[in-house]
Amino acid sequence: MRFADIIGNAREKKALLNQAKENRISHAQLFLGPEGSAKLPLAIAYSGYLLCENPEPNDACGQCPSCQKIGSLTHPDLHFSFPVVLSATEKIASSDDRRSEWNKLLLKNPYFDINGWQQHLDELGKNAVIGVEESRHILQKLSLKSYSGKYKIMIIWLPERMNFQAANKLLKMLEEPPEQTLFFLLSDSIENMLATIISRTQLLKIGAFDTDDIARYIENKFAVDQAVSYSVAGLAQGNMVEAIQMVSGDENQHVYFDFFVKMMRTAYAANAFELMNLCDEIASLEKEHQKNFIKYGLHLFRESVILNYMKGELVNLRNEERFS
Ligand SMILES: [Zn+2]
Repeated sequence: MRFADIIGNAREKKALLNQAKENRISHAQLFLGPEGSAKLPLAIAYSGYLLCENPEPNDACGQCPSCQKIGSLTHPDLHFSFPVVLSATEKIASSDDRRSEWNKLLLKNPYFDINGWQQHLDELGKNAVIGVEESRHILQKLSLKSYSGKYKIMIIWLPERMNFQAANKLLKMLEEPPEQTLFFLLSDSIENMLATIISRTQLLKIGAFDTDDIARYIENKFAVDQAVSYSVAGLAQGNMVEAIQMVSGDENQHVYFDFFVKMMRTAYAANAFELMNLCDEIASLEKEHQKNFIKYGLHLFRESVILNYMKGELVNLRNEERFS
């Protein structure tokens, strides 16, 4: 994962590169950005740049042994800490016990949220936390000497899920950081974080993705046509995770579109019998498809209202949607 692998985010990349070039890298940084933004890929790319043996002006080289280890997520100076569902029977006490699953998911797709992570583990809906055992592991890892002679980097994904004890231990580490250590805290929301932790970090705001960037990424990654990619990007409203879910979960947005048009026309014709048939049809779909269809319908309503009132500005519709 290099900066070049991350679409858009020019401002964020520049801010990170400038820190390094001006030699003012803060030892604790809070990457704060909405769900589905590029926090995690950016933190990994930045780590790769800082650990690279032969960095280019604006990115890691991608070739050296360090870059290769970053690429396979096996660099001994790059550590991850993330929420897990604690379990005595399965012997899950910290993120170390889930590291191989973490690597597998991250290598497949760096854009996921807590639901995606828990779905990957088949633990959707259970309480995933960063517990006190985790903070012991963090301290242990960071007290070792750096393997590369450069930084030891600890990426903490969703620090807002730390329990109170773990958060207090982290605070102590931030107050007296081990040598040559960088903490990157990647958070969706600071609401549940200790104010004392926030005040110890330097804030880096990560914006949501641009619609165009999401559309381009989806087009390349999933080989969908431009009309579909823009429709999906419009629906996702800056959230890459949602966009990916939409294209990978639903082979074809056109199915929703056809269904929606049929439903609106039937409603306009006041054909109650046919409407009931359509409702039965929706009820027979899987839950995820039902949710996606409702989201899609809401998107079309929203865009139609804007289309009427704003004469086409701020509208994310494909042509066929626009003229139906
Ligand atoms: Zn390199």
